[in-house]
Amino acid sequence: MSCLPDSIQRVLVTGGAGFIGGAVVRRLLRCSAVEVFNLDKLGYASDLSSIQAEVEQLGGMAAGRHHVLQVDLVDQQATAEAVRRADPDLVLHLAAESHVDRSINAPGAFLDSNIIGTFSLLQACRGHWDALSAVRREVFRFQHISTDEVFGSLGASGYFSEATPYDPRSPYSASKAASDHLVKAWHHTFGLPVVTTNCSNNYGPWQFPEKLIPVVILSALALKPIPLYGDGLNVRDWLHVEDHVDALLLVAGQGKTGASYCVGGGGEGGGCDERTNREVVESICAILDQIRPQAEPYSHLISRVNDRPGHDRRYAIDSSLIRKELGWSPSLGFENGLRQTVHWYLDHPDWCQQMLGRS
Ligand code: NAD
Repeated sequence: MSCLPDSIQRVLVTGGAGFIGGAVVRRLLRCSAVEVFNLDKLGYASDLSSIQAEVEQLGGMAAGRHHVLQVDLVDQQATAEAVRRADPDLVLHLAAESHVDRSINAPGAFLDSNIIGTFSLLQACRGHWDALSAVRREVFRFQHISTDEVFGSLGASGYFSEATPYDPRSPYSASKAASDHLVKAWHHTFGLPVVTTNCSNNYGPWQFPEKLIPVVILSALALKPIPLYGDGLNVRDWLHVEDHVDALLLVAGQGKTGASYCVGGGGEGGGCDERTNREVVESICAILDQIRPQAEPYSHLISRVNDRPGHDRRYAIDSSLIRKELGWSPSLGFENGLRQTVHWYLDHPDWCQQMLGRS
């Protein structure tokens, strides 16, 4: 399990009340003694209960090391003030509007949070970095967490890598691509020490029930139609959120300044964990047939719905750079990770009900 080098004592996590940011914050509280500043606007997808549960389990000093800063990154003054208060050695920038369907229905929020929000954070961090002592300037790092969706859509073969040209095709991926470019520009123009990761689809516990895997699990459990876009043959590369956190903390400690790292699923030997959406949905149905059988197989609930406009066909990541350079590889294959995730949703009905009430 990766953690951080001792030189890093104060970490600002943006989007720390979201799905992946929450997993990062929990890990930092569990595996290190760092002070964690969790900057989040606390929007519809936010939830601090996973962190509260972790803090209760850890007891002692953990609660005192987690500081919530309720700030919208679009507000430049509030962002600068939050960065001053956090006084970070490391910034892990995860805050973003993250759901492609919402970006199609209402793109403005994506441009605000993902582009203007990143600009505002970069400016605040630049001022902070400029004012640091020489020793702390050496340590400081701005880490931008991005997605493989910035690379567009693959055909039946080939993989995305660090050398793939950007070709975003949805308002979400275009806004993330813009934020990647801003981060790199602040490095080249102002010298800000940055590093970027582009990761494939994440899954795991505490994911807000608007993303594919929780939508399928919760629709099936409610015996409601399980929506499947179009022909169900769109392909995604799946990575468990805890393996993503491992990659992020390794990159934070050892990644090269100015570099990008592609992060995706797949076992020791490399490759990736590619699945069609239909395969993912059928796997979840098969797991539920075993652990919570009904009179009919859950797959009878699968119901085709109109495809998402501009739906990218295939994403698959070649993560050989981070594997070779930093020795990272995912510890959980998709079958095991998916089974654990289904169990987790079954074991947390109250949380699911509460989150469903917000969607
Ligand atoms: P999420 O939607 O679960 O969480 C995002 C969090 O960011 C929320 O708590 C939200 O309130 C916060 N936020 C959004 N706009 C903000 C703003 N203007 N100011 C402050 N806080 C704001 O998303 P996630 O799935 O945890 O994704 C986190 C990051 O990882 C995103 O940048 C996303 O692009 C990237 N990513 C996600 C995946 C995935 O499969 N989920 C894959 C690769 C990369």
